[in-house]
Parts: sequence; structure tokens; C-alpha cells
Amino acid sequence: MLPYQSLEEAELALGRALSVAEKLWFQYSAQKPDFILHCHNILFAMLFYTLAPLPFVFIGLGWFKNMDKFKIQPKVKDSFSNMFKCYKDVMRSNVFVTGPVQVISYPSIQWIGIRTGLPLPSLAEVFWQIVVYFIIEDFSNYWIHRMLHTKWAYKNIHSVHHEYTAPIGFAAPYAHWAEIWILGMPSFLGPALVPGHITTYWLWFILRQLEAIETHSGYVLPWSPTKYIPFYGGAEYHDYHHFVGEQSKSNFASIFTYCDYIYGTNKGYRAHKQVLEKAKNLQDPSASK
Ligand SMILES: [Zn+2]
Ligand SMILES: [Zn+2]
Repeated sequence: MLPYQSLEEAELALGRALSVAEKLWFQYSAQKPDFILHCHNILFAMLFYTLAPLPFVFIGLGWFKNMDKFKIQPKVKDSFSNMFKCYKDVMRSNVFVTGPVQVISYPSIQWIGIRTGLPLPSLAEVFWQIVVYFIIEDFSNYWIHRMLHTKWAYKNIHSVHHEYTAPIGFAAPYAHWAEIWILGMPSFLGPALVPGHITTYWLWFILRQLEAIETHSGYVLPWSPTKYIPFYGGAEYHDYHHFVGEQSKSNFASIFTYCDYIYGTNKGYRAHKQVLEKAKNLQDPSASK
């Protein structure tokens, strides 16, 4: 909730005219309690985990035959009932697990100082904060994920996420409730260490969801803008981790590739890629030239 009663009052307090984005933000947020703004993340999770995987669902159902060549595990066929079951499970955990995490995290969000007022952050501030959030998330997620692959944690917690050996977009947040809570922490860590505006906080969670959906989509789309991000792992990278399953000693990082490179946990994937490359060259010798 903003401490100004009108646009004029806000402009007077800032000592300048408001930008168009700031006027829109004033109109949207001025009368809303900060708690309600914070809880928007629950709605975003429901919305993006419903809509963003849909293109991959349609491709998986065979609606766009020319897209089949981009499937990472072409022998695996996705059925509607299987995808719908995954979607229902994910929505249920959004309501009963992720939602409560967002609600109970509100006091800590207040404490760390996520601001809701004016001025809005500059684009440069938003960009660099999101970059930092992704780096912190990736590094912390890497180590937690490695711990989840120890015998007890895998059997009792992480095996749920690995039920999909050929992941689908809906399966990105499909996991044991304890894993959702544990792996939720790295997502809060970035904003906790480098607090910003709540719009940056929203954007961070949305981008993180979109990244996870693409990573679990089961497809490598050649026009995806994410392939221009330095050290970005992407769908093929994480798909291999699911493909190997419990025995996987490779590709623990969720976003970038450098942690696996530095800590030597990409050897299985590199060997796998070499085998695929050789097979491709045998089928089409001109491809290696
Ligand atoms: Zn895993
Ligand atoms: Zn996964």
C-alpha cells in the first residue's frame, strides 16, 4: 500500500513527474495491502504453470508433426492422461505446499525489505538483480540437489521428481512436498541477500518458473532465446539428468553448466553426448564435415 493519496501527492514527494509505468503501478497498488501484493506469486505460479507448458503439451499430443524432430527422447510418447495427472498433482501442491510457503514467508519478506512503493526500479537495477538471483539460485540449488541424490534423500524425497525419466513441462515443479520446501529456499535467498522492488521479485519468480518449464519440456527448440544465455544448460542438459535417474552423477545444476564443470559432475553427460555424436555421424557422415 502506497503512502500517497493521489498521483499529485506522489509526484510532490518524489520531486518529479511519474513515468507511465509508475502511474500504472500507483493505480494498481496504492490501495492494496503489501501482503496481497506478496501473495500475487501464488497466482503467478498457478497461471504460468498452467499456460507455459501448453505448447509442449500440444506438440506432445502430435498436433504439430514438424516439431517432433525437436523431442529429446523421441521414443517416449506422452499421453494426455499422463500429462493431465501431472498437471493436477502440480496444481494441488501449488495450493497446499507452495501457497503456504509464500504466505508464511511474508514476515521475512517484510524483514528483508522488499519494497512496494515508488519510485519503481530502473531497468538496469531489475536486470542485474535478476542475474544475481539466478546465480545464487543455481549455486545453492546445485548443492542441495547433490544432497538429494544421497541414498536416503533420494529414496524418501527426490525419487518423486525423478518419476519422469522423460520430463514434460508440467513436471517442472512435480516433487515431494519436502523438496518443494527445501528447493524453495534458494529462490528466496537471492531476494534476501539483494532485496529489491516487489515487481522485480514477481518477475524473478515468473522467469524462474519459465526456465524450469523449458528445462523440463522434453524439447530443444532451436529458436529459444535462452540459447544465447552464457553457460545456460537448457532442456537437453537437465533431460539427461532425468534420463539416468537415481544413478545420475551428472548435471545437478538447474540453470547453468559451470557448477557441474567446476565440480566434475558433467562427465557422464559429456560421454553421452560423444556417443550421440558418433551415432549421428555414422548415420549421416556429411554432418561431421
Ligand atoms: Zn535429481
Ligand atoms: Zn528436474
